[in-house]
Amino acid sequence: MKETGSEKKVLLEVNDLHVSYGAIRALSGVSLKVFEGEIVSVIGSNGAGKSTLMSAIMGMVRREKGEIRMDGAVLDARSYRVVQQGVSLSPEGRKVFAPLTVLENLRMGAFPRGKDPRVEDDLEWVFSLFPRLRERTGQYAGTLSGGEQQMLAIGRALMSRPRVLLLDEPSLGLAPIIIKDIFKELRRINSEGVTILLVEQNARQALLLSNRGYVLQTGLMVQEGSSEELLANADIKAAYLGGGRGGGKTTRALT
Ligand code: ATP
Repeated sequence: MKETGSEKKVLLEVNDLHVSYGAIRALSGVSLKVFEGEIVSVIGSNGAGKSTLMSAIMGMVRREKGEIRMDGAVLDARSYRVVQQGVSLSPEGRKVFAPLTVLENLRMGAFPRGKDPRVEDDLEWVFSLFPRLRERTGQYAGTLSGGEQQMLAIGRALMSRPRVLLLDEPSLGLAPIIIKDIFKELRRINSEGVTILLVEQNARQALLLSNRGYVLQTGLMVQEGSSEELLANADIKAAYLGGGRGGGKTTRALT
């Protein structure tokens, strides 16, 4: 989709979110909106707070201050309830269950749905998105390649049938050709009705996939706009788009 989404309904809304780890302030009042049907990216360099934002939405770290809403309702602070409210996460570093098989990992993703009979259809859906996983249903997840583990992490998150899929660095450590495949599937997942919030150091790739983007810098959102605007912005080019994956390392202040 290419429209900016402004005429659509807000699905996920983060307002003035603060998170600290002891004395370390990781998020200092972050706000964002994700409209239904969009792909939205949050870009930022190492330590900007991207994973913390994902973890806080999922209820995996304590939200010190602020409010998160999903389809108008306050998002619970308990992770299993967050999933039941329609939000799931493919975490940074995949975090597949290595001693479980591919199929067992996928079924774990559907666990919060209990005995929902539609789980079997969704398993087929995930296999249609990632046929490689179907070929490897009995293989231990720990023995998969990095790309296959990333597919499994996304597939596991999809097994809860989220309305909003959170993706934390899906390109991390993968070869460009594999990243291309995975991002192609993300587009398809979105076109099949799943709204996506993506955090990435790989800013160019992320912005090329998304409708809109936000720039997170040391716990603060410093910029937002359509992906086209951000890709064309000279400061963002210099700070995040210069050197591909490592571009974040040369970050200079945008404010
Ligand atoms: P990266 O892309 O490198 O993962 P990030 O943008 O995801 O970075 P976070 O991992 O959210 O950033 O970290 C934000 C800040 O919070 C950093 O200063 C980091 O050192 C700190 N931090 C993250 N997790 C913890 C923790 N468990 N305990 C203490 N500080 C933490």
